[in-house]
This record gives sequence, C-alpha cells and structure tokens, in this order.
Amino acid sequence: MKSVPLRGLIVVPFVVLTLIAGITLYLVSTITIANVANSVGIQYIKEVEDRIYGHVRHFTAPLSSIVDINRNAFSYRPELLDSLTPLASRLYEQAMPYPHMTFISVATTDGRYLSSTRNPFKTDHHSVAANYVNKTLTMEGFEYDPVRHIGDKIEKDPSFSYDPRTRPFYQDAVQAQGMVWSKIHLYYGFPTLGIGLSGPIYDQQGKLLGVTATSVALTELDDFLESIALVDNAYIFLAERNGALIATSSKDELYTIANGITTRVSLVTHPDKVFQMASKQLESGAHRLEVDGENFLYHVRSISLGYGETWLIGILIPSSHHESVLAEHNQAALFITLMLFACIALVGSLIAWYICKPIQRLNQAANDQNLESIQKLPQPLSGISEINSLSQGLHLMADNLADIMQNLDKKVAQRTSHLEDENENLLECSITDELTNLHNRRGLNQAFERTFKYAQQQNKSITFVLCDIDHFKGVNDKFGHSAGDLALVEVAKILKSHLRSTQDIVARYGGEEFALVFVDTDLNHVIARMNKIRQDFVAKPVFDNQHITMSFGITYIEDASSTSQQMLIDVTDAKLYRAKNSGRDKIVS
Ligand code: GH3
Ligand code: MG
Ligand code: MG
Repeated sequence: MKSVPLRGLIVVPFVVLTLIAGITLYLVSTITIANVANSVGIQYIKEVEDRIYGHVRHFTAPLSSIVDINRNAFSYRPELLDSLTPLASRLYEQAMPYPHMTFISVATTDGRYLSSTRNPFKTDHHSVAANYVNKTLTMEGFEYDPVRHIGDKIEKDPSFSYDPRTRPFYQDAVQAQGMVWSKIHLYYGFPTLGIGLSGPIYDQQGKLLGVTATSVALTELDDFLESIALVDNAYIFLAERNGALIATSSKDELYTIANGITTRVSLVTHPDKVFQMASKQLESGAHRLEVDGENFLYHVRSISLGYGETWLIGILIPSSHHESVLAEHNQAALFITLMLFACIALVGSLIAWYICKPIQRLNQAANDQNLESIQKLPQPLSGISEINSLSQGLHLMADNLADIMQNLDKKVAQRTSHLEDENENLLECSITDELTNLHNRRGLNQAFERTFKYAQQQNKSITFVLCDIDHFKGVNDKFGHSAGDLALVEVAKILKSHLRSTQDIVARYGGEEFALVFVDTDLNHVIARMNKIRQDFVAKPVFDNQHITMSFGITYIEDASSTSQQMLIDVTDAKLYRAKNSGRDKIVS
C-alpha cells in the first residue's frame, strides 16, 4: 500500500474542502443573484410605488370630498345660492387646509359665479373671483376679506366676460348629471397643469340649481416625483391611461406651447427613449424593458380617482443597480467566507505542523542510523502526549542499545587484544624451538635473511657457524630420549650464553645441530668464542656428569655482498662434515 505523508493527509483535505466550498458558494450565489436582484428590485419599486399611490390619493381626495360637501349643502339649503357673497368665506375656509387647491367654485343656473382662488405658486395668496359684483357676467378678481367676504378689487387682474354655463366644467357636469372630471389642462397664466372635478347641484325636488367645482394645480405632484430619491438612472411617471403625462421624475416639461397651442407631452412623445419604450407596456404589473442595451425593471400600477378617472404610476429602475449592489454584498460575503476557509486551512496547516513536526523529527532521527540522533532529541519533544510517549520509548530503546553496544565494544576490544596476544604467541611459537627456546629453522631463516641483507647493505663481514653434537645418537641410546632432550636444552643455554644477545643469532638448525650468525665480527673472535664453548662442554656436564663434544664448521666472509645465504650454508655444511670426518670435537673454518 502506498504511504502518504501525514502533513499532506491533514492539509490536503482542508485545502480541497475550502476550494470546493468556495467554488460552490460562488456558483450558487452567482446563479441566484439575478433572481434575488429581481425580487429585491420589484420590492424596492413597490415601496416607492406605495408612497406615490398614497400621496396621489391624499392629494386628490379633497377634490371630491369638497364637491360632495357643497353639493349636499346647497341641495338642502338652496337659499345659500341666492346670495353668493357670504359663500366666499365658506369656500375660503374649505380651501385653507389644502395649499394646492386652486379653485373651489360655485356657479348658478342664472350664470353667477363665485370662486375661492389661489395662485398655484404662491399658495398663501388667496383671492376671490366673482362675475356678478360690479357687472353681470363680468369676471373680476378681489382680495379676500374675512368680514366683507369679498374685499377690494384687484386692479391688476383683468376683467373679462364670463358665463360659467358655457364652460366645460358646467356643461359636462350638467350633462353627466353627476360628478365629472375636467380634462387635465394648462392653467391660464401659470406654468402648471391642473385638473378639476365638478358636480351638479340639485334641490330636493331634483331641480338643477347650479354646479360646484374644485380644481388643483398638478405641479406639486411633479415636484413630488422629482423629489423622490431614487437609484441612478431610474424613472417614475404619473400618466393618464392614454399615456399623457401628469408628472415625472425628470425635469423635462410636461407640455409644449407652439403658436399659442398647448400640447401635452405623452410617454410616446417624451424626448427620453426610456419613457418612449415604457409607453409600449402600460398593463398593470411587472415588466422588463431593454433600452439601448440596458435592462430595466418596470412596474405599472393603476390608481383610480373615482368617477371614471384612472391614472397610471410607472416606475423603471435599471436591473444592474440591484444586481451590482447584491454583487457587492455577495462579493463581500464571498470574500469573508473565503477568508474564513483560508483561516480554516491555515489552522489545519498549523495543526498539521504541530502534529507533523515532532513526528518528522522522530522519523528523521529513527532513520539516521545513528543512536545519538535519537538520544539528542529534546525531551519532551512535543505538546502531544502520544508523540511524547513514543519519543520517550524510542529514547529509552536507544539508551539501552547504546549500553549494549558499549559493552559489546569493550568485549570485542578485550577479545581482540587477547587474540593479538595469542597471535603474537603463535608467531613466536612458530619461529621458536619448543625444546630449547632458541629460534627454530623458520626463525633462523627470517633472522638470517634480515641480518644478511643488513650486512650486504652495510658491506659488513658475516660469519656463519654450523655445529653438531658428536655421537648424540649414543646419548639417546644410552640414557634415553629424555636425557637427550635435557642435553639439548643445556647445549642451547651454553651456546646462548656466549653470544651478544642483540646482534648475534643462535638457532636450532635441526635435531642436535645448531646454527650461529655473527655480523661485523672478526673470524678469530668467532673461533675464540667457539673454543670457549668447547671448553664449557669440557668444564660443564650437560647432564648427570655426562659431557659432550661438538664439531664446528665456520665460514667468514669479509663483505657479505660478495656471497649468498645458500652459498654460506653449503660451504659451512661442508666444513662441518669435514670436522666430523676428521675426528670430531673440532672447528673447521
Ligand atoms: P655424529 O657424531 O656423526 O654426529 O653421530 P651422531 O650419533 O650424533 O649422529 P646421528 O645423525 O647418527 O644421530 C643423531 C641423533 O640425534 C639421532 C637422534 O635420535 C638424535 N636426536 C635428534 N633430535 C633429538 C631430540 O630432539 N632429542 C633427542 N633426545 N635426540 C635427538
Ligand atoms: Mg647430526
Ligand atoms: Mg651428531
């Protein structure tokens, strides 16, 4: 089974999970963002729409309520219409709470007309219009006077002939026999649109007494739509069902005047392409519009003013707005989530490091093939108890093993030293004659070779001596082999005692025959020594008062380099032979 590093086993799942979670989050959020943006956008539109709806209802409600009140009042008290002048105060009081109520009027069937009027742009300026005060059916403007009801004439206001019964508000109401809205129109003398509501007055018997009407300037609605704080590039309009605009959030004019003819602007004729496109879809509900590559969420809601009048509220906001806002939130959320995952991955790495570092050190030390590496590991190795326990166990094992190895080393050293001694002994034995403790033949060969080379190199003289116990066989035969051995040992001692221990060589050449080597020694000196040895044999019995004699062959070479070892041996052997043959106990040199 393939093994994997522990650190990888911990870190890799953390990182992989982080990546999977991040990608999933990104995909899910990206897919849902459009739907959410759409819902949020529609929600936003509806909130704005509710505000507009409420405002328009609130704005138009007094029109019908005042007409209703007056129709009822005059119906039950027709005598009030006999003298219109006191009604100026009544109409004034009715208009007071509504700054945009520009006209509240009453017209009688005999053509008298009285109206509380107000400048649409100076709403605190209140006046009275009447067409019967100074001249019948001649309209004049008057200051309002709370006591006199109709105050002084406003001189700058032009007087003109005016018969309300010829006016649409009167005729339409009479014809409809009920409440009727005027067309939305441009106010005479003021740059604002206005709309009126009029209703016929009947007495209790159903006889027509006149018409009462109200009128408001619509500039406030336009100002209101303009004042609504919207997202960039958003549009609001208030329009009639045919698309004629009543108010918009843009500053563009709602009507144009050319050659004295006023033309209202509609969604279709509006200069802004967005309004033009909006005109194609005026059904209530949510729509989508694309204008020059930009997508809009578009919502239309109808608002009924009663008596057959219905307006439309339209709101368009660019889809990109909510998408971008959501995308920003989404990005922030994504960023935070990724940071969170990165933190998790970091924590995972730290945990991995915390766990793996000591295990790695343990692993390294264990594979170092050196007990010291394990012994040098700090204790405790880690904050993790299991790892510590493992490290301590390994440490203990290493200590024990080190002790065992130390003992083993000591034992091996002892054994080696013993073997070396043994070896030395064996070596010594191999070149030593067991009986006499002199060099044996092998020892002689080695020592002779060294000495001969030295003599050759130094051009020294060399003397080789071979000596053999005379009639030794007889000794053995006569006294036994053990006695013969004792004699050999004694002979060896005597030979040794006459030599310079460091320079001269003495060896058992074989059987009862001995060899001696002298370097840089005079021949006479050697002969003198051999003679001393012979004298010792005479003086000293070698065993049990038994004396022996020896025969000697001596070869002296002045310069060792002029001969060879073998020649020396051969020549000397011949001389010994001659000594034997010429009577024994002799030196032949
Ligand atoms: P020669 O004078 O001609 O040398 O006569 P020899 O008897 O000494 O010579 P030979 O060669 O006939 O005999 C040598 C004897 O030395 C025979 C052998 O038993 C004896 N010998 C050799 N080595 C040892 C030994 O280690 N111990 C004992 N006891 N005798 C030995
Ligand atoms: Mg012999
Ligand atoms: Mg002999």
